[in-house]
Amino acid sequence: MSHWLCVLVQTPAHASLGSVLSYRSESLLTPGTLVRVPLGKRETLGVVWDAESGQATGELDPGKIREVAGVLEGIAPLSGKWQQLLTFTAQYYQRSIGEVALAALPPQLRELSPQQMQRRLKRKKSARPEPTEESPAQNPALPDLSPEQATVMAQIQSQAGPFLLFGATGSGKTEVYLHSVQTVLASDPHAQALVMVPEINLTPQLEARFKARFVPLYGEDAVVSLHSGMTNPQRLKSWLAAHSGQARIVLGTRMAVFASMPQLRLIVVDEEHDPSYKSSEGARYSARDLAVYRGRLDGAKVLLGSATPSLESWHHSRPAAEGGRYLRLHMPSRIGTLAPADQQQAPTAHQTTRATAGTPNGLPLVRRVDMNHQHRNAVFSIPLLEAIKERVARGEQSMVFLNRRGYAPVLHCTDCGWKSECPHCSAFRVFHKIDRTLRCHHCGFTERVPRACPTCGNPDIAPLGRGTERLEEHVAELLADVRRPNTISEEFPDGEPVRVARIDADTTRLKGELQSQLAAVHAGDVDVLVGTQMIAKGHDFRRITLVAAVNPDGALFSSDFRAPERLFSLLMQAAGRAGRDATLGERSEVWIQTFQPAHPLYAALKRHDYPGFARTQLQEREQAGLPPFTAQALVRAEARTQEVAQAFLNAASAAARSEMALWEGWAGILDQITLYPAVPMSIQRVANIERAQMLVESPSRAALQQFLTAWQSVLHATRQGPDGKGLIRWAVDVDPLAI
Ligand code: ADP
Ligand code: ZN
Ligand code: ZN
Repeated sequence: MSHWLCVLVQTPAHASLGSVLSYRSESLLTPGTLVRVPLGKRETLGVVWDAESGQATGELDPGKIREVAGVLEGIAPLSGKWQQLLTFTAQYYQRSIGEVALAALPPQLRELSPQQMQRRLKRKKSARPEPTEESPAQNPALPDLSPEQATVMAQIQSQAGPFLLFGATGSGKTEVYLHSVQTVLASDPHAQALVMVPEINLTPQLEARFKARFVPLYGEDAVVSLHSGMTNPQRLKSWLAAHSGQARIVLGTRMAVFASMPQLRLIVVDEEHDPSYKSSEGARYSARDLAVYRGRLDGAKVLLGSATPSLESWHHSRPAAEGGRYLRLHMPSRIGTLAPADQQQAPTAHQTTRATAGTPNGLPLVRRVDMNHQHRNAVFSIPLLEAIKERVARGEQSMVFLNRRGYAPVLHCTDCGWKSECPHCSAFRVFHKIDRTLRCHHCGFTERVPRACPTCGNPDIAPLGRGTERLEEHVAELLADVRRPNTISEEFPDGEPVRVARIDADTTRLKGELQSQLAAVHAGDVDVLVGTQMIAKGHDFRRITLVAAVNPDGALFSSDFRAPERLFSLLMQAAGRAGRDATLGERSEVWIQTFQPAHPLYAALKRHDYPGFARTQLQEREQAGLPPFTAQALVRAEARTQEVAQAFLNAASAAARSEMALWEGWAGILDQITLYPAVPMSIQRVANIERAQMLVESPSRAALQQFLTAWQSVLHATRQGPDGKGLIRWAVDVDPLAI
């Protein structure tokens, strides 16, 4: 006898066909089973889907329903909770469930035939040694928790969460993650934990710490990684280990939030404020927000951690009496500045001096340099340069930070005013001196720098502004006569020349380059490190005692309301790089060169006062009716001309007002929705495609969700109609990070 099944497949985005199609099968397959099914002329991966939740669409003629081609034996069906997570993601972020679910599975699962998969699984089984019946492994020696860590751990164990761990850089958050994971794994022999970091670059460091802690306890296979930097076979291997329950800990980037983990009991989201948790293509999901949803679904505790939480999470962690939903946990002190828990009563003289030295809590001193009083075109103020020279003389390291790569953002002709615009984008091409190219950072268009001005022939074309490449060159010039204490050779009787290095996306293009450059910094082979935000994040540099932001003011005047939040967190992160070695912490400094020394953002930074900064920002957002006090979505449209892109958006908006208002019971919902006029995106044209966007806003997230879901059909209809003519694509971005 043959059964009818609903099977989830990946149909082209916005195809009229839904994601859930009907198939026939000889055996009855449980929902979650992975199958191969014919789709058009191809065969593709599908997931047997719950007939209740998935309304099968497509073929209705029973004679034409096709047969399931094969079952991926040996892989347990995906759990109902996993299916629910993916269903929610698709609904919330307004994408097709087939696209979202299939994209969440490792690519090889889609490519391998059932036979190939069988061979893969067999090979794995025979390679694995039989578990031995030896006595349980010894606990490796754990550091004693600091008083703050101990308090926080007690709260995590006794409360349900979700938790927001607000801990200064170096306060020992990672140690809290390790302890929490250990507690959860020890409590149940099958329990699994998911630990997420924002960037691939940060995974090796985290992996090393987790492996050192947990491999002795649970074996080599217990800790796996999951991120896009892995090869497809590696990803499949990790995924299968997590899915089978063999892996107890999964470390990964945002994609790991979809890992199938049948016994998930804990989710950690490190640096939860980081924009990398938001996907910027396909379903634009926030892995941080989904982690909270998934925790509730799976009954897993959720621990978000940051020294500068997102204002959303900060707001959610206000006192419960005021409507807060997360529990805020606070660790204000750097490790090494307070006595460990068991010595709390009797701090030694040494510990007392450390706790009182410099700024409270062992955080570096923040100094603002008023650039209004410096030479007009100075890149480095005189006092900053002196401070760097002092570090060099003492054999300490400095880090100079500028959030713009390349040599100069623009080349221009002083005669006719020509500028190095990209012919395909509404943006300038960046001058990269190292290979003398002009490169567009948006479309990738690259050309050799012209010998003379392309418009007037003037040979004198000059760089405008500066990026990290130019900054590195400039630092090297300024320090050319400075000598550092001899450590390498006696070849230089008066000391060795200063070693300047740069780390940014350009110097780390090749695999392994970032790791080797970071290793050089750690080994002390660099005196002054120049770089972009890449060096500001997460890396644990122990001997850096000075961090300088040479030109951070731009974000104060940005039209993006989140720019100050990002700047504050970036500067706090950068400050967190300084003085992580407690013995150097006392004289660590963060320098901010600014034309706005009195700006409240810098004043709060000087006090290391994230709560104060957050308070004023949230007040401003509440007054202006911005997130987290309203919910937002963006609809983006792309076309050959700006008019076409905008016409589509405005037509869909007008249709919402005229048609949906007539729907039964909809007047009340539409009243809560604001549809703004379509506008060009901030970079209006990329690779010759014009881009427009429309903001949709509501004080009620539920109303916005309801509206967006219903509006989908209107958008589809508009796309098919006269106002959709010439449109290339459109997409919805729910909770957008950049407006
Ligand atoms: P964060 O993640 O908050 O930046 P880490 O967890 O990396 O902080 O801790 C900072 C440093 O302090 C690390 O070198 C870590 O090994 C050390 N550390 C953390 N907790 C303790 C502790 N309880 N006792 C001793 N050292 C600790
Ligand atoms: Zn010219
Ligand atoms: Zn371009």
